[in-house]
Amino acid sequence: MKKLEVGILGATGMVGQRFISLLEHHPWFEVKWLAASDRSAGKTYGEACNWRVRDAMPKSAAPLPVHECKPGSAPKLIFSSLDSKVAGEIEKEFAHAGHVVVSNSSNHRMDADVPLLIPDVNPDHLALVRAQRHERKWKGMIVTNPNCTTIGLVMSLAPIERQFGLAKVMMTSMQAVSGAGYPGVPTLDILGNIIPYIGGEEEKVERETRKLLGKLTDSRVEMGNFIVSAHCNRVPVEDGHTESISIALRTPAQAADIAAAWRKYRSRPQELELPSAPKHPVIVREEKDRPQVKFDVDSERGMATVVGRLRPCPVLEWKYTALSHNTIRGAAGAALLNAELMKADGYLD
Ligand code: NAP
Repeated sequence: MKKLEVGILGATGMVGQRFISLLEHHPWFEVKWLAASDRSAGKTYGEACNWRVRDAMPKSAAPLPVHECKPGSAPKLIFSSLDSKVAGEIEKEFAHAGHVVVSNSSNHRMDADVPLLIPDVNPDHLALVRAQRHERKWKGMIVTNPNCTTIGLVMSLAPIERQFGLAKVMMTSMQAVSGAGYPGVPTLDILGNIIPYIGGEEEKVERETRKLLGKLTDSRVEMGNFIVSAHCNRVPVEDGHTESISIALRTPAQAADIAAAWRKYRSRPQELELPSAPKHPVIVREEKDRPQVKFDVDSERGMATVVGRLRPCPVLEWKYTALSHNTIRGAAGAALLNAELMKADGYLD
């Protein structure tokens, strides 16, 4: 199969680098076009990028020129990991010009006609793009993935919500520093410290969770009928967001029922055997002190959500811990899986 050429907006950033790394040997997609700010435009990727991924920069990426973020010469499929200060307008400009923009940025996630997608959770929401193209008169489209904290929460909630319904969710996060981009949180603020504030994060988790677990009706998403409260904290961890979660259900369940729902959970990416799909979207650890970032963050190449410590909650009903990789499953890997689902379902033809 001839590979589909792809471009990356924000290619020099933390998430952009993950895209380059994850796409290096991708069976369907090939990186051909890169763009970033005018600080980087005009240089080669090797010159412009302060590479921060452990694996070496792919040899094929280093000589590619970095362009300005203007449509025209770019391939049809564009991944976006632009700073959210500029992503909103640039992504619209690309979609208007006919590009399929698969975005990590928060700007369009809650637009009523933009799919906020986790292929393992709400693949049917992709159909929203029909209304989007019709209403906005775009030849292209914008599809988004959730915030890096929302994704682990929702992947762990989806199997439970499908079987027992959700009434209430409380989530306290311990979020890695790489979630703040590069150079991110100053060393003197985070070393030996916990910062109990991440601007806008709690609101994003609370609203995105209800959209993701909502129902698609009449080309709109009816928000999930449950309440969410999020506490978000920054901790001195490099990669991996850990979350303490308490839930109240609509119908009673035993611990074994919840664990079984997690274990057997499969969805469209697994049926379609998409290249980036985790075989097990949710992995259950039995040990009393897992999941831990140190051991579990790279499970299924960073694409699985790892859960454990399921036990009764005296305030709600059940409580547990979840962990997911914020720059892979929470960002570049999430967008890549979105694009793979779109290709499999004929949205890139
Ligand atoms: P980052 O490391 O700060 O990278 C930002 C990128 O945007 C860089 O390529 C930068 O180019 C480019 N950029 C900045 N200002 C620009 C401008 N005026 N015009 C054009 N390009 C510009 O950020 P990141 O962590 O990769 O995050 C990227 C996006 O993904 C953000 O919207 C973020 O909220 C979202 N996200 C991040 C994570 C995560 O875990 N890090 C997870 C989910 C979603 P230069 O290098 O040339 O400045």
